[in-house]
Amino acid sequence: MTPSQSNPCTAAWVRTACISAVLAVSWLAPTAWAQSTDLSACMAELRPAARSGKVSDATWSRHTAGLQADFSVIEKLNFQPEFRTAIWDYMSALVDEERVADGKARLTEHRQALERAEQRFGVDAATVVAVWGVESNFGQTFGKYPLVQALGTLACHGRRQSYFRGEFFSALRILQAGHIAPERLVGSWAGAFGHTQFMPSTFERLAVDFDGDGRADLMDSSVDALGSTANFLARAGWQSGLPWGIEVKLPAGISLAGEGRRSKRLVADWAARGVRRVDGSALPASLGQVGLLALAGANGPAFLVTRNFDALYSYNAAESYGLAIAHLSDRLRGGGPFATPWPTDDAGLSRAERRELQGLLVMRGHDIGPVDGMLGDKSREAIRAEQQRLGMEANGRGGQKVLKALRGG
Ligand code: CA
Repeated sequence: MTPSQSNPCTAAWVRTACISAVLAVSWLAPTAWAQSTDLSACMAELRPAARSGKVSDATWSRHTAGLQADFSVIEKLNFQPEFRTAIWDYMSALVDEERVADGKARLTEHRQALERAEQRFGVDAATVVAVWGVESNFGQTFGKYPLVQALGTLACHGRRQSYFRGEFFSALRILQAGHIAPERLVGSWAGAFGHTQFMPSTFERLAVDFDGDGRADLMDSSVDALGSTANFLARAGWQSGLPWGIEVKLPAGISLAGEGRRSKRLVADWAARGVRRVDGSALPASLGQVGLLALAGANGPAFLVTRNFDALYSYNAAESYGLAIAHLSDRLRGGGPFATPWPTDDAGLSRAERRELQGLLVMRGHDIGPVDGMLGDKSREAIRAEQQRLGMEANGRGGQKVLKALRGG
Protein backbone atom coordinates (compact mmCIF):
# COMPACT_ATOMS: atom_id res chain seq x y z
CA MET A 1 0.00 0.00 0.00
CA THR A 2 1.21 3.50 -0.75
CA PRO A 3 -1.10 5.72 1.27
CA SER A 4 0.36 9.00 0.03
CA GLN A 5 -0.82 8.13 -3.46
CA SER A 6 -4.11 6.59 -2.55
CA ASN A 7 -5.25 8.92 0.20
CA PRO A 8 -4.41 12.30 -1.23
CA CYS A 9 -7.21 14.51 -0.10
CA THR A 10 -8.28 14.18 3.46
CA ALA A 11 -8.07 17.21 5.75
CA ALA A 12 -9.90 20.33 4.73
CA TRP A 13 -6.77 22.36 5.41
CA VAL A 14 -4.62 21.08 2.63
CA ARG A 15 -7.00 19.58 0.14
CA THR A 16 -6.48 22.14 -2.60
CA ALA A 17 -2.74 21.67 -2.53
CA CYS A 18 -3.00 17.92 -2.41
CA ILE A 19 -5.46 17.75 -5.28
CA SER A 20 -3.14 19.78 -7.50
CA ALA A 21 -0.24 17.56 -6.49
CA VAL A 22 -1.97 14.46 -7.80
CA LEU A 23 -3.44 15.96 -10.97
CA ALA A 24 -0.61 14.54 -12.99
CA VAL A 25 -1.83 10.97 -12.58
CA SER A 26 -5.06 11.46 -14.51
CA TRP A 27 -4.65 9.45 -17.69
CA LEU A 28 -8.00 8.45 -19.17
CA ALA A 29 -9.54 10.86 -21.63
CA PRO A 30 -12.98 11.50 -20.14
CA THR A 31 -16.13 12.19 -22.07
CA ALA A 32 -16.90 15.90 -21.97
CA TRP A 33 -20.47 16.00 -20.68
CA ALA A 34 -22.53 19.13 -21.11
CA GLN A 35 -22.71 21.37 -18.03
CA SER A 36 -26.13 20.02 -17.14
CA THR A 37 -27.02 18.88 -13.67
CA ASP A 38 -28.54 15.76 -15.21
CA LEU A 39 -26.00 12.97 -14.71
CA SER A 40 -28.06 10.19 -16.28
CA ALA A 41 -26.08 9.89 -19.56
CA CYS A 42 -22.77 9.76 -17.69
CA MET A 43 -24.18 7.26 -15.19
CA ALA A 44 -25.32 5.04 -18.07
CA GLU A 45 -21.76 5.10 -19.41
CA LEU A 46 -20.29 4.29 -16.00
CA ARG A 47 -22.65 1.45 -15.21
CA PRO A 48 -20.69 -1.42 -16.85
CA ALA A 49 -17.51 -0.36 -15.04
CA ALA A 50 -19.43 -0.11 -11.78
CA ARG A 51 -20.83 -3.60 -12.34
CA SER A 52 -17.36 -5.06 -12.91
CA GLY A 53 -16.31 -3.09 -9.82
CA LYS A 54 -18.79 -5.16 -7.79
CA VAL A 55 -21.42 -2.46 -7.38
CA SER A 56 -24.68 -4.39 -7.57
CA ASP A 57 -27.52 -3.35 -9.86
CA ALA A 58 -29.70 -2.72 -6.82
CA THR A 59 -27.13 -0.45 -5.21
CA TRP A 60 -26.52 1.34 -8.48
CA SER A 61 -30.20 2.00 -9.13
CA ARG A 62 -30.90 3.05 -5.58
CA HIS A 63 -28.15 5.66 -5.40
CA THR A 64 -27.73 6.92 -8.97
CA ALA A 65 -31.35 7.18 -10.16
CA GLY A 66 -32.07 10.88 -10.59
CA LEU A 67 -28.62 11.86 -9.27
CA GLN A 68 -27.98 15.55 -9.94
CA ALA A 69 -24.59 17.18 -10.36
CA ASP A 70 -23.40 19.73 -7.81
CA PHE A 71 -21.10 22.02 -9.77
CA SER A 72 -19.85 23.73 -6.64
CA VAL A 73 -17.49 20.77 -6.19
CA ILE A 74 -15.98 21.45 -9.63
CA GLU A 75 -15.40 25.05 -8.56
CA LYS A 76 -13.60 23.71 -5.48
CA LEU A 77 -11.54 21.38 -7.70
CA ASN A 78 -10.46 24.30 -9.89
CA PHE A 79 -9.97 26.79 -7.07
CA GLN A 80 -6.50 28.32 -6.91
CA PRO A 81 -6.02 30.10 -3.59
CA GLU A 82 -4.60 33.59 -4.01
CA PHE A 83 -3.95 33.80 -0.30
CA ARG A 84 -1.10 31.60 0.82
CA THR A 85 -1.27 30.70 4.50
CA ALA A 86 2.00 31.15 6.37
CA ILE A 87 3.16 28.11 8.33
CA TRP A 88 2.86 30.01 11.64
CA ASP A 89 -0.76 30.90 10.90
CA TYR A 90 -1.53 27.33 9.92
CA MET A 91 0.10 25.91 13.05
CA SER A 92 -1.30 28.46 15.50
CA ALA A 93 -4.89 27.55 14.59
CA LEU A 94 -4.36 23.78 14.38
CA VAL A 95 -2.38 23.44 17.60
CA ASP A 96 -3.87 25.92 20.06
CA GLU A 97 -4.66 25.61 23.77
CA GLU A 98 -8.27 24.77 22.98
CA ARG A 99 -7.33 21.79 20.80
CA VAL A 100 -4.77 20.59 23.36
CA ALA A 101 -7.42 20.72 26.12
CA ASP A 102 -10.03 19.02 23.90
CA GLY A 103 -7.51 16.34 22.94
CA LYS A 104 -6.61 15.63 26.57
CA ALA A 105 -10.30 15.20 27.36
CA ARG A 106 -10.63 12.73 24.46
CA LEU A 107 -7.59 10.77 25.68
CA THR A 108 -9.36 10.23 28.99
CA GLU A 109 -12.77 9.58 27.49
CA HIS A 110 -11.49 6.95 25.02
CA ARG A 111 -8.68 5.49 27.11
CA GLN A 112 -9.81 1.89 26.78
CA ALA A 113 -10.24 1.96 23.00
CA LEU A 114 -6.94 3.79 22.59
CA GLU A 115 -5.11 1.23 24.73
CA ARG A 116 -6.61 -1.53 22.62
CA ALA A 117 -5.56 0.28 19.44
CA GLU A 118 -2.01 0.59 20.73
CA GLN A 119 -1.88 -3.11 21.61
CA ARG A 120 -3.23 -4.19 18.25
CA PHE A 121 -1.57 -1.68 15.90
CA GLY A 122 1.40 -0.35 17.88
CA VAL A 123 0.41 3.31 17.54
CA ASP A 124 0.20 5.34 20.74
CA ALA A 125 -2.92 7.13 21.96
CA ALA A 126 -1.61 10.71 21.67
CA THR A 127 -0.70 10.22 18.01
CA VAL A 128 -4.08 8.74 17.11
CA VAL A 129 -5.96 11.48 18.98
CA ALA A 130 -3.79 14.16 17.33
CA VAL A 131 -4.82 12.91 13.88
CA TRP A 132 -8.46 13.01 14.99
CA GLY A 133 -8.05 16.58 16.26
CA VAL A 134 -6.45 17.87 13.09
CA GLU A 135 -8.71 15.96 10.68
CA SER A 136 -12.14 16.78 12.09
CA ASN A 137 -11.60 18.72 15.34
CA PHE A 138 -12.45 15.50 17.22
CA GLY A 139 -15.54 14.76 15.20
CA GLN A 140 -16.95 18.27 15.06
CA THR A 141 -16.16 19.14 11.43
CA PHE A 142 -17.05 16.46 8.92
CA GLY A 143 -17.85 18.47 5.80
CA LYS A 144 -21.37 18.83 4.48
CA TYR A 145 -21.34 17.42 0.96
CA PRO A 146 -23.46 14.33 0.29
CA LEU A 147 -20.69 12.01 -0.85
CA VAL A 148 -22.49 10.13 -3.62
CA GLN A 149 -23.52 13.40 -5.24
CA ALA A 150 -20.09 15.05 -4.85
CA LEU A 151 -18.18 12.02 -6.13
CA GLY A 152 -20.76 11.36 -8.87
CA THR A 153 -20.23 14.92 -10.09
CA LEU A 154 -16.43 14.60 -9.95
CA ALA A 155 -16.66 11.24 -11.76
CA CYS A 156 -18.47 12.90 -14.67
CA HIS A 157 -17.02 16.42 -14.80
CA GLY A 158 -13.71 18.13 -14.25
CA ARG A 159 -10.09 17.18 -14.51
CA ARG A 160 -9.79 14.08 -12.37
CA GLN A 161 -12.64 11.89 -13.55
CA SER A 162 -10.76 8.58 -13.64
CA TYR A 163 -9.54 9.02 -10.07
CA PHE A 164 -12.93 10.09 -8.77
CA ARG A 165 -14.72 7.24 -10.58
CA GLY A 166 -12.75 4.86 -8.41
CA GLU A 167 -13.75 6.80 -5.29
CA PHE A 168 -17.38 6.97 -6.46
CA PHE A 169 -17.55 3.19 -6.88
CA SER A 170 -15.85 2.74 -3.49
CA ALA A 171 -18.46 4.97 -1.84
CA LEU A 172 -21.25 2.91 -3.40
CA ARG A 173 -19.69 -0.34 -2.21
CA ILE A 174 -19.42 1.08 1.34
CA LEU A 175 -23.17 1.78 1.25
CA GLN A 176 -23.82 -1.62 -0.31
CA ALA A 177 -21.97 -3.33 2.54
CA GLY A 178 -24.14 -1.43 5.02
CA HIS A 179 -21.29 0.17 6.96
CA ILE A 180 -22.87 3.62 6.91
CA ALA A 181 -26.45 4.76 6.35
CA PRO A 182 -26.80 6.60 3.00
CA GLU A 183 -28.10 9.81 4.56
CA ARG A 184 -25.13 9.87 6.95
CA LEU A 185 -22.49 9.65 4.20
CA VAL A 186 -21.48 13.30 3.94
CA GLY A 187 -17.99 14.78 3.87
CA SER A 188 -15.61 17.10 2.11
CA TRP A 189 -16.25 18.17 -1.48
CA ALA A 190 -13.48 15.78 -2.57
CA GLY A 191 -14.99 12.77 -0.79
CA ALA A 192 -13.10 12.53 2.51
CA PHE A 193 -15.49 11.68 5.32
CA GLY A 194 -15.89 10.83 8.95
CA HIS A 195 -13.99 11.44 12.16
CA THR A 196 -10.63 10.93 10.51
CA GLN A 197 -11.58 11.98 6.97
CA PHE A 198 -10.81 8.80 5.02
CA MET A 199 -11.34 8.74 1.28
CA PRO A 200 -13.71 5.89 0.29
CA SER A 201 -10.90 3.78 -1.22
CA THR A 202 -8.87 4.25 1.97
CA PHE A 203 -11.91 3.17 3.95
CA GLU A 204 -12.17 -0.01 1.89
CA ARG A 205 -8.53 -0.88 2.49
CA LEU A 206 -8.07 0.21 6.08
CA ALA A 207 -11.24 0.91 8.04
CA VAL A 208 -11.85 -1.50 10.91
CA ASP A 209 -14.87 -2.31 13.05
CA PHE A 210 -13.24 -1.53 16.36
CA ASP A 211 -16.32 -1.39 18.59
CA GLY A 212 -17.45 -4.81 17.40
CA ASP A 213 -20.95 -4.00 16.13
CA GLY A 214 -20.24 -5.57 12.74
CA ARG A 215 -19.87 -2.31 10.80
CA ALA A 216 -16.90 -0.02 10.24
CA ASP A 217 -18.69 3.26 10.79
CA LEU A 218 -16.33 6.20 10.54
CA MET A 219 -19.22 8.66 10.70
CA ASP A 220 -20.92 7.68 13.93
CA SER A 221 -18.41 5.56 15.82
CA SER A 222 -15.39 7.44 17.12
CA VAL A 223 -14.05 4.10 18.36
CA ASP A 224 -14.12 2.65 14.82
CA ALA A 225 -12.42 5.83 13.58
CA LEU A 226 -9.65 5.66 16.20
CA GLY A 227 -8.95 2.00 15.42
CA SER A 228 -8.98 2.72 11.69
CA THR A 229 -6.51 5.59 12.08
CA ALA A 230 -4.16 3.41 14.12
CA ASN A 231 -4.44 0.77 11.40
CA PHE A 232 -3.69 3.39 8.72
CA LEU A 233 -0.52 4.53 10.48
CA ALA A 234 0.59 0.96 11.18
CA ARG A 235 0.23 0.13 7.50
CA ALA A 236 2.09 3.31 6.61
CA GLY A 237 5.13 1.96 8.44
CA TRP A 238 4.68 3.33 11.96
CA GLN A 239 7.33 1.92 14.27
CA SER A 240 6.11 1.41 17.81
CA GLY A 241 8.02 3.33 20.47
CA LEU A 242 9.91 5.55 18.02
CA PRO A 243 9.30 9.33 18.39
CA TRP A 244 8.23 11.22 15.26
CA GLY A 245 11.25 13.46 15.75
CA ILE A 246 12.72 16.12 18.00
CA GLU A 247 13.18 19.86 17.83
CA VAL A 248 16.82 20.79 17.32
CA LYS A 249 19.12 23.80 17.32
CA LEU A 250 21.06 24.32 14.10
CA PRO A 251 24.63 25.64 14.10
CA ALA A 252 25.13 29.07 12.52
CA GLY A 253 25.74 28.90 8.81
CA ILE A 254 24.51 25.31 8.27
CA SER A 255 23.48 24.73 4.68
CA LEU A 256 19.95 23.43 4.21
CA ALA A 257 20.50 22.78 0.51
CA GLY A 258 19.39 19.29 -0.39
CA GLU A 259 18.17 18.57 3.15
CA GLY A 260 14.64 17.51 3.95
CA ARG A 261 12.41 14.85 5.42
CA ARG A 262 13.56 12.30 2.87
CA SER A 263 17.34 12.92 3.07
CA LYS A 264 17.89 10.77 6.09
CA ARG A 265 21.27 10.37 7.78
CA LEU A 266 22.45 8.79 11.00
CA VAL A 267 22.04 10.92 14.11
CA ALA A 268 25.85 10.82 14.50
CA ASP A 269 26.22 12.58 11.12
CA TRP A 270 23.96 15.40 12.27
CA ALA A 271 25.83 15.64 15.56
CA ALA A 272 29.10 15.91 13.65
CA ARG A 273 27.63 18.85 11.72
CA GLY A 274 26.90 20.65 14.97
CA VAL A 275 23.17 19.94 15.38
CA ARG A 276 22.05 19.70 19.02
CA ARG A 277 18.81 19.36 20.94
CA VAL A 278 17.22 22.75 21.62
CA ASP A 279 18.43 22.62 25.24
CA GLY A 280 22.00 22.18 23.94
CA SER A 281 22.29 18.51 24.92
CA ALA A 282 23.45 15.70 22.64
CA LEU A 283 21.12 14.09 20.11
CA PRO A 284 19.66 10.69 21.12
CA ALA A 285 21.28 8.03 18.93
CA SER A 286 18.18 5.86 19.30
CA LEU A 287 16.37 7.91 16.64
CA GLY A 288 18.37 6.09 13.97
CA GLN A 289 18.09 7.61 10.49
CA VAL A 290 16.61 11.11 10.52
CA GLY A 291 15.95 13.93 8.07
CA LEU A 292 16.03 17.66 8.74
CA LEU A 293 12.72 19.50 8.57
CA ALA A 294 12.86 23.31 8.70
CA LEU A 295 9.64 24.57 7.12
CA ALA A 296 10.45 28.25 7.70
CA GLY A 297 14.17 28.03 6.94
CA ALA A 298 17.23 27.98 9.20
CA ASN A 299 15.90 30.78 11.43
CA GLY A 300 12.66 29.01 12.36
CA PRO A 301 11.92 25.88 14.39
CA ALA A 302 13.91 22.92 13.03
CA PHE A 303 13.40 19.22 13.59
CA LEU A 304 15.10 15.91 12.99
CA VAL A 305 12.35 13.58 11.84
CA THR A 306 12.14 9.78 11.79
CA ARG A 307 10.24 7.36 9.58
CA ASN A 308 7.25 7.87 11.88
CA PHE A 309 7.00 11.43 10.61
CA ASP A 310 6.78 9.94 7.11
CA ALA A 311 3.81 7.86 8.29
CA LEU A 312 2.08 11.05 9.51
CA TYR A 313 2.98 12.73 6.21
CA SER A 314 1.34 9.91 4.26
CA TYR A 315 -2.00 10.71 5.86
CA ASN A 316 -2.26 13.87 3.79
CA ALA A 317 0.92 14.36 1.76
CA ALA A 318 1.80 17.73 3.32
CA GLU A 319 4.73 18.39 5.66
CA SER A 320 2.96 21.25 7.44
CA TYR A 321 0.07 18.89 8.10
CA GLY A 322 2.41 16.20 9.42
CA LEU A 323 4.07 18.73 11.72
CA ALA A 324 0.69 19.87 13.09
CA ILE A 325 -0.19 16.29 14.06
CA ALA A 326 3.29 15.63 15.42
CA HIS A 327 3.29 18.78 17.53
CA LEU A 328 -0.26 18.25 18.79
CA SER A 329 0.71 14.72 19.85
CA ASP A 330 3.65 16.13 21.84
CA ARG A 331 1.39 18.72 23.47
CA LEU A 332 -1.05 15.94 24.41
CA ARG A 333 1.86 14.14 26.11
CA GLY A 334 2.47 17.26 28.19
CA GLY A 335 5.11 18.93 26.01
CA GLY A 336 5.26 22.68 25.50
CA PRO A 337 5.29 24.94 22.44
CA PHE A 338 8.32 24.90 20.13
CA ALA A 339 11.45 26.36 21.78
CA THR A 340 12.36 28.36 18.68
CA PRO A 341 9.81 30.96 17.63
CA TRP A 342 8.66 31.21 14.02
CA PRO A 343 10.65 33.87 12.14
CA THR A 344 8.00 36.59 12.14
CA ASP A 345 7.39 39.75 14.19
CA ASP A 346 3.63 39.23 13.86
CA ALA A 347 2.78 35.81 15.24
CA GLY A 348 -0.33 33.86 14.26
CA LEU A 349 -3.63 33.65 16.13
CA SER A 350 -5.25 30.79 17.97
CA ARG A 351 -8.87 30.04 17.13
CA ALA A 352 -9.98 31.88 20.28
CA GLU A 353 -8.01 34.93 19.14
CA ARG A 354 -9.47 34.64 15.64
CA ARG A 355 -12.95 34.66 17.09
CA GLU A 356 -12.03 37.68 19.21
CA LEU A 357 -10.67 39.45 16.11
CA GLN A 358 -13.86 38.63 14.22
CA GLY A 359 -15.93 40.00 17.10
CA LEU A 360 -13.96 43.25 16.96
CA LEU A 361 -14.55 43.45 13.19
CA VAL A 362 -18.29 42.94 13.69
CA MET A 363 -18.30 45.66 16.37
CA ARG A 364 -16.81 47.98 13.78
CA GLY A 365 -19.69 47.26 11.43
CA HIS A 366 -18.10 44.73 9.08
CA ASP A 367 -20.24 41.95 7.64
CA ILE A 368 -17.95 38.93 7.96
CA GLY A 369 -20.50 36.13 8.19
CA PRO A 370 -20.41 33.83 11.22
CA VAL A 371 -17.86 34.40 14.00
CA ASP A 372 -16.36 30.94 13.64
CA GLY A 373 -12.62 31.39 14.05
CA MET A 374 -12.09 30.80 10.32
CA LEU A 375 -10.61 33.82 8.59
CA GLY A 376 -12.19 33.52 5.14
CA ASP A 377 -12.54 36.02 2.31
CA LYS A 378 -15.00 38.29 4.14
CA SER A 379 -12.91 38.41 7.32
CA ARG A 380 -9.77 39.14 5.30
CA GLU A 381 -11.52 41.94 3.43
CA ALA A 382 -12.58 43.52 6.73
CA ILE A 383 -9.08 43.10 8.18
CA ARG A 384 -7.67 44.79 5.09
CA ALA A 385 -10.01 47.77 5.56
CA GLU A 386 -9.08 48.09 9.24
CA GLN A 387 -5.36 47.78 8.48
CA GLN A 388 -5.73 50.60 5.95
CA ARG A 389 -7.52 52.78 8.49
CA LEU A 390 -4.84 52.04 11.11
CA GLY A 391 -1.99 52.85 8.73
CA MET A 392 -0.74 49.25 8.76
CA GLU A 393 0.26 47.18 5.76
CA ALA A 394 -3.11 46.24 4.24
CA ASN A 395 -2.51 42.54 3.52
CA GLY A 396 -5.72 41.12 4.98
CA ARG A 397 -3.84 38.76 7.27
CA GLY A 398 -5.12 38.24 10.79
CA GLY A 399 -2.09 38.29 13.12
CA GLN A 400 -1.23 39.54 16.61
CA LYS A 401 -0.53 43.09 15.43
CA VAL A 402 -3.95 43.83 13.97
CA LEU A 403 -5.65 42.08 16.90
CA LYS A 404 -3.77 44.25 19.41
CA ALA A 405 -4.45 47.42 17.41
CA LEU A 406 -8.19 46.68 17.30
CA ARG A 407 -8.32 45.78 21.00
CA GLY A 408 -6.93 49.25 21.67
CA GLY A 409 -9.73 50.78 19.59
CA1 CA B 1 -18.32 -0.61 14.45
